[in-house]
Amino acid sequence: VSRLRDGLGRSSNKLGGGIGSIFTKRKLDDEALEELEELLIASDLGVSTSAKLASGLRKERFTKEAGPEEVRGALAEDVAEILSPVAHPLEVKAAAKPHIVLVVGVNGSGKTTTIGKLGKQYADQGYKVQFAAGDTFRAAAVEQLQVWGERTGCPVTAKETGADAAGLAYDAVAKAQKDGADLLLIDTAGRLHNKSNLMAELQKVVRVIQKLAPDAPQDVVLVLDATTGQNALSQVETFKQLVNVTGLVVTKLDGSARGGVLVALAEKYGLPVHAIGVGETAEDLRPFSARAFGRSLMG
Ligand code: GDP
Repeated sequence: VSRLRDGLGRSSNKLGGGIGSIFTKRKLDDEALEELEELLIASDLGVSTSAKLASGLRKERFTKEAGPEEVRGALAEDVAEILSPVAHPLEVKAAAKPHIVLVVGVNGSGKTTTIGKLGKQYADQGYKVQFAAGDTFRAAAVEQLQVWGERTGCPVTAKETGADAAGLAYDAVAKAQKDGADLLLIDTAGRLHNKSNLMAELQKVVRVIQKLAPDAPQDVVLVLDATTGQNALSQVETFKQLVNVTGLVVTKLDGSARGGVLVALAEKYGLPVHAIGVGETAEDLRPFSARAFGRSLMG
């Protein structure tokens, strides 16, 4: 929690400090609530969620005076309530051997890094984990995943740059099945500027995986960069059109004043949030705790 708190420092300073200046020795009147609503919107919680949170305060609580501590505490609780239905770690199903996770998202969102971190986490728990360097378009992505493979001891299936991503995925599934792996994490390209090509590629990857493993992929995890703020919402919209997104990982919450976007995502899409990224090293993937996040966000 302390690292998360550090990580969310900027979000919570902004929000917590803002709440502090709105509610210092002041009645919780319409004007104060309006200012609060604006602050929540500016903190990326989304227009409808912000309105709901502000009006929740008006209706239920504080008919007289409220200090910043009470307002922060109440909002932290309300935010935790919104977030708790989506806080779900990625569950490796024993029946699927391997459990296959397709990891999607725009370039730079943190896909490859998240795969490395997830691999480390599950390998530490005793699972046999393998990686597939499915972002065959970018040489750097393939190399980067190979580095993560060495770092975590997870075998990596990779091919030369430009190789067919679906062929690579097929080989990776065959190898994971042969080796009796528990978990296979497949990286993908994120070239959103050519949406129809990306859709064709992702759909082909899924089709090919299903030739060997009809129930796969068990999860399609969309990785979102929190620093993009409201743009994260349109990325969900886009990727839902391309593939059957089953869950999210939100990264870069360490360097970001935009942790609030998680609340907007939860409210709008209700997709499980499997983990959050708070840095670049293997240890910097955190379970997503609704309560801890609500508290950190409000400072
Ligand atoms: P990809 O293109 O989606 O595979 O993205 P990468 O995994 O290559 O990540 C892009 C950059 O973001 C790299 O420099 C990563 O080290 C960095 N990165 C990924 N996750 C996080 C995070 O949670 N926090 C921070 N600060 N950086 C991150």
